[in-house]
Amino acid sequence: MVSSPDAEHHDDVGEHGGRLRSFRHERGNWASYVYVAFRPHEELWEMLDELKSVARKHGVHLTTAEEIHVSLSHTVILRHHWIQPFIQSLREKLCTTRRFLCVADLLKVYVNKEKSRTFLGLEVARGRQQLLEVVSGVDLSLQEFHLETFYQNPSFHVSLAWCVGDMAKALQGACLLELQRVVDDFEDSDVLTRFYADTIYCKCGNKVMSIPLC
Ligand code: AMP
Repeated sequence: MVSSPDAEHHDDVGEHGGRLRSFRHERGNWASYVYVAFRPHEELWEMLDELKSVARKHGVHLTTAEEIHVSLSHTVILRHHWIQPFIQSLREKLCTTRRFLCVADLLKVYVNKEKSRTFLGLEVARGRQQLLEVVSGVDLSLQEFHLETFYQNPSFHVSLAWCVGDMAKALQGACLLELQRVVDDFEDSDVLTRFYADTIYCKCGNKVMSIPLC
């Protein structure tokens, strides 16, 4: 359930691990996004520890992502009374979509639009075409509600870790090559980097709605 939708929300930077919110919370407005869940194997955390220590050697202190997923939309603002109709619209667009296998094994560095956060992510190679098809359905629903659609040419990825600021330069080049070697050489990395896209989720505030694929 949405907890106290009309409650005041204060934009406390401390609550978000030092990250800055790029929009203000307002009464009845819910920050929302659509995604595919990635359920990590235990060993992924070991691999991530290795990745973080390589990044540290290059002067970048990464924090583990709290929620591991593949975004299928930007974060958009939904009015409270739009949530149910929006989910209904998504269900209609995705009702014939079949579940599919994804493989995300290529590390890439991402920076948000505001250049206030940098992410280390695993890009989805296998499954990209099907994700594009899901996004075209999600985009139709977003358009119905006059909301921003996703990137024209998205790079679908699983963000594993992040840091404050634009640290792309420090992470790319030699550092990224070293990081990729950790992934390639990790035992069972082929198992850790594959997942089934079987459910699409929409998170609105602290409420998560699921749309199972066929
Ligand atoms: P996410 O983990 O899905 O929140 O993505 C991390 C960041 O990557 C977001 O702030 C996105 O805006 C950013 N990003 C930058 N370039 C791209 C791209 N081509 N496709 C998807 N996300 C991107």
